[in-house]
Amino acid sequence: MNLSLPSIIFLAWSILWTGCSTGREDGVPARDVDSETTGPAQSVPEFDRQRAFDDLLRIVSFGPRNPGSDGHRRGLNDLWTTLNRLADSVTIQPFTHRGYDGDILNLSNVIASFRPGVATRILLCTHWDTRPRAERDPDPSRRDEPILGANDGASGVAVLLEIARQLHEHPPPVGVDLAFFDGEDYGYEGDLPNYLLGSRYFASSKSPDYVPRFGILIDMIGDAELEIPKEGHSVSYAPDVIDLVWGKARSLGFHQFSNRLGEPITDDHLPLNVVGIKTIDLIDFSYPDESHRYWHTHSDTPDHCSSESLGVVGTVLLHVLYSQTP
Ligand SMILES: [Zn+2]
Repeated sequence: MNLSLPSIIFLAWSILWTGCSTGREDGVPARDVDSETTGPAQSVPEFDRQRAFDDLLRIVSFGPRNPGSDGHRRGLNDLWTTLNRLADSVTIQPFTHRGYDGDILNLSNVIASFRPGVATRILLCTHWDTRPRAERDPDPSRRDEPILGANDGASGVAVLLEIARQLHEHPPPVGVDLAFFDGEDYGYEGDLPNYLLGSRYFASSKSPDYVPRFGILIDMIGDAELEIPKEGHSVSYAPDVIDLVWGKARSLGFHQFSNRLGEPITDDHLPLNVVGIKTIDLIDFSYPDESHRYWHTHSDTPDHCSSESLGVVGTVLLHVLYSQTP
């Protein structure tokens, strides 16, 4: 993800917007996204946080997963083989992009669907690629080396893979699609056209008939010191989904979901919202804290992530999914 001048402008706008809508802070979920009060209760499977953390470790063991790397090939193969054992259907969406050195990058989104015949659908998504450089690293001599991306890349994949296992074992009340986007983190800082490559491709090529009830993007949610504020664009595009998710987190006693309004982040949820898929972004950009010390550095490693953080996010997502009715 990327912070940019437009984001800063948007922050001012979203503060104004929030000032006009504080009534939503009561946490009462909107009826169109939360059917809990009208539908039969379905038991919610338990998210196995240790198994998710094992996924994170395995994914990181492939090395950096930036486009064109060996780790990228291994990461894609792992997604394909793991999801094919779990999902009702798995689709690879290949596309290309001209890289900074003129080479053509071969990129792939992966989409795993559960109950594909059900019209009412929820979209969960993350990016699976990692950054080809570490321009925030304190060591200037290593800033052109790709990062491991334990949090910024592997954490979101790990949570969605464990959710895939639960969806496989416990068919959800609605259709669910898990989208793993490639090429999110390719661009130089501030060069927005070279970011969000996979989500842009997914959004631009989707069928007009595909309109999930809502989407939830997860990014950088493995931080051992997890705090997820209400991301600025999400509050603007999908306040009812924010209310739904934060209401679940509150009922579960998860203080990691903060009521603070976060800065707007340019991330994969933006192309989705533009094409009408109402999507929020769960992201802890302060990794580990306001100093952003590990973001886009070689310190983005598993020892700075935790199974507990994966468990908090995964548990909330399962409670959201299993409270839906068709
Ligand atoms: Zn990143």
